[in-house]
Amino acid sequence: MSVLPIVTYPDPILERPCAPVTAFDRRLGRLLDDMYETMLAADGVGLAAPQIGVAEQIAVIDVGDEHGRIELINPVVIEARGEQVDVEGCLSFPGLFGEVPRAKFVKVRAQNRRGRPFVLSATGFLARALQHEIDHLRGVLFTSKVVRYCDLEELEG
Ligand SMILES: [Zn+2]
Repeated sequence: MSVLPIVTYPDPILERPCAPVTAFDRRLGRLLDDMYETMLAADGVGLAAPQIGVAEQIAVIDVGDEHGRIELINPVVIEARGEQVDVEGCLSFPGLFGEVPRAKFVKVRAQNRRGRPFVLSATGFLARALQHEIDHLRGVLFTSKVVRYCDLEELEG
């Protein structure tokens, strides 16, 4: 596995919709492993493929809860309910944080690295991470949804 460089804003790849994955091969497995290692090295809880320069519908998430490592290929939100507003950041926007409204509950359908479909339901922080990463795959960045930016002093205080 290797740690890959993270693409930062305003690289245009971050605002382009990604292509669906059609080949569930060893290359995909290696990419997922590298993305996970890159995410951990950057101290992140989620990473989408365009953030490492790959315009394909692939994301990894690990918010440190009982779900552990989550791999999402071609994910789609099939149900969303409620609202939560909380502070969010992004590895492609170092040092930038803002309050973002998100659905409180989401149900996501995706495929695993072997192409097998699964459904994942989540609330709270994991639901937020899922929405953030799936947005990336549509070329949508969290900055387009921020209702209020936070300064670092405020967060540390
Ligand atoms: Zn992000």
